[in-house]
Amino acid sequence: MPPIRPLPPGLVNKIAAGEVIERPASVVKELMENALDAGAGRVDVTVERGGLELVRVADDGCGIEPEELPLAVAAHATSKLAVEDDLFHIATLGFRGEALASIGQISRLVLRSRVSNRPEGAQITVHGGQAGQVVPCGCAPGTVAEVSQLFFNTPVRRKFLRSPQTELGHVSEAFLRVALPALQVHFTLHHHERCVCELPAGESWPQRIGRLFGRELAAGLIAVESSDGPVRLAGYVAHPALSRSTTRMQYLFLNGRAIRDRSLQHALSEAYRGLLTAGRHPIAFLSLEMPPELVDVNVHPTKLEVRFQDAGRLYSQLLSTIRRKFLATDLTTRVHPAACPTEHCAGMAAGVAGPDQPATADEHLGLPDAAAADRLREQLASWAEEQANCDLPAPGPGGAAAIGAGGGHPGQWAGQLQLTRIQRPSEPAPLPPRSIGPASAERSAAAGLLPAHHRPPSAAPRHAAPAVQIHNRYLVTESEDGVVIIDQHALHERILYEQLRQRIAGGTLEAQNLLVPEPVDLGPVERAAVMEHRELLARLGLCVEPFGGDTVLITGFPAMLANLNPADLLSGIIERLLEGRQLPDSAELLDELLHTIACKAAIKAGDRLSEEEIASLLAEREVIEDAHHCPHGRPAALVFTRAELDRRFKRT
Ligand code: ADP
Ligand code: MG
Repeated sequence: MPPIRPLPPGLVNKIAAGEVIERPASVVKELMENALDAGAGRVDVTVERGGLELVRVADDGCGIEPEELPLAVAAHATSKLAVEDDLFHIATLGFRGEALASIGQISRLVLRSRVSNRPEGAQITVHGGQAGQVVPCGCAPGTVAEVSQLFFNTPVRRKFLRSPQTELGHVSEAFLRVALPALQVHFTLHHHERCVCELPAGESWPQRIGRLFGRELAAGLIAVESSDGPVRLAGYVAHPALSRSTTRMQYLFLNGRAIRDRSLQHALSEAYRGLLTAGRHPIAFLSLEMPPELVDVNVHPTKLEVRFQDAGRLYSQLLSTIRRKFLATDLTTRVHPAACPTEHCAGMAAGVAGPDQPATADEHLGLPDAAAADRLREQLASWAEEQANCDLPAPGPGGAAAIGAGGGHPGQWAGQLQLTRIQRPSEPAPLPPRSIGPASAERSAAAGLLPAHHRPPSAAPRHAAPAVQIHNRYLVTESEDGVVIIDQHALHERILYEQLRQRIAGGTLEAQNLLVPEPVDLGPVERAAVMEHRELLARLGLCVEPFGGDTVLITGFPAMLANLNPADLLSGIIERLLEGRQLPDSAELLDELLHTIACKAAIKAGDRLSEEEIASLLAEREVIEDAHHCPHGRPAALVFTRAELDRRFKRT
């Protein structure tokens, strides 16, 4: 082993620079944060070649005294911390005194600054860590930092840089993460002299979000707010129909600083449980304000991660705030051509084109510089990776006209199932005998599931609009704001799921002993899975005993599902058990199994419903939670708003 030696200071700084400055976007972030810390009212960011050639950030903040310029660019020198104790009450974005020194170490940095009570400014240049003399210069009050030749002396880092377009994407992202919460500040971002984005001071969050991501997203925002002692949570989450394929559009700000927090991200996805299909992620813009001493921001070089004093409590606050809001909000998906994420990219391109061109889907088509918008759209798409398909069935060129199209295949209407009616809330039904055929099993599943006292007194439907069944799978009815198309299976599945959930919250599902226990032959793996989860199955009212070899005996069955075939249900559950091996806890597994049961027991697409059954489904729809989505997160209903219909029929 060679002897141990202290590292030369230049190398120390280079290593530190590697932590803080990863790419041009990091420079943009650090310089913008400095501008905000200096109390700027306006911050102008200019980049050339995605920041690879030049990053310039100009502000009108307090400026730096000429004699302090050498300190500003020196390592571990800051005006933001005075005594050790300050580290635990950090109210500024910066505090480590590292950024300018790090940047100067690996680029050519020119810092020009003027404090307002001086007639002229002063300038210092740092190149590869070597600071020059402070020289006077003319400049407006405030500070301009210019960074060129980034990574000229760290070829390894330079190799990791991407194309200017990709780097511009990262720069835009860094820009918006600093700019979004600072509503009192006017921001601009220029690339090659072109204004990519302008955010005037004094606008609201939705207005800023609209400029950055398009008006459709801004229109789909749901405001949330809550306080828990000194902790205030406020912001916006997006309607589930506006989900994304990545978590990238989840912006979380802590005291004005963009952070990432896995636990809070998890709380957010919990809040959307059952409202998004697998692989989709919510969009959110949330801001947390709390006294600085409740959080340690000094755990990560770029301060992206922080440590909360009471992370568990914060988790609950976020989850319950959003959940409560959702329960009080009608989340039925409104069909609108612009509700597709692809439109947001278009909207974003339009939005970042500047404030004179409001970000509307229509106007983006007529952008004066359509080619530029396309280019920008490509750039943004390259980092946003959000070209995922929209969850909504596309309205198609015929749009709403498709509602009435097609009378259905005659065969579909023939030989309809004889269905018993779904019990209305006021008429709890006796459980039908098990001997009834499988067709009516589905009805019975819904029958009298919920004891009367569980039902809210307002169980009467809010509107008694008639509904028609089309294609034996959709129910078409009207609401106050338009035509509602309901997926009968998805809705029934949600109803059953909610009812099962309420039942099981009170303990277990009631089991009915089978007069003749039913043997089921399984493979060894299936049998092991069943035996491993016997207790869980018992909670579901499914009693299973070993019966020699790989055969198990079903001795009890959920009373409320009496008409489902026990072996069928068990095999559906086994499938879930096997694929859900990695499910972390039994609560989650139980929930999965409730999904399975609800899905098996619900009426299917293709089942003809009687008028009473339709009325019954619609009545249930009024009283259960989250009736707008099936338990797997697919929409259970779509609304074609009257306004949209009027627009399409050219009535307006
Ligand atoms: P930090 O922000 O952690 O203090 P920096 O290296 O980013 O460290 O900046 C060092 C110091 O230079 C800051 O503490 C501040 O006093 C001064 N400074 C940097 N940028 C600006 C600016 N835009 N306006 C006024 N002062 C600045
Ligand atoms: Mg700083």
